[in-house]
Amino acid sequence: MKIANLKCPKCEHQQKIEIPEDKCLAFYECEHCHETILVPKDSKNCCVICEYSDKKCPVAREA
Ligand SMILES: [Zn+2]
Repeated sequence: MKIANLKCPKCEHQQKIEIPEDKCLAFYECEHCHETILVPKDSKNCCVICEYSDKKCPVAREA
């Protein structure tokens, strides 16, 4: 199990999330402010792991 340290762009709360083995994480719900976080439309990143955490998702690593 791989863990990413993800920072909420709304409230800047740091939280640990599990990185899926074989897919992007398209959105997540912040455990602090309960906002549903999505990747911005104009972002180059494919998912919230790539966009907001210190890790890359498995899909991005292969690309
Ligand atoms: Zn938050």
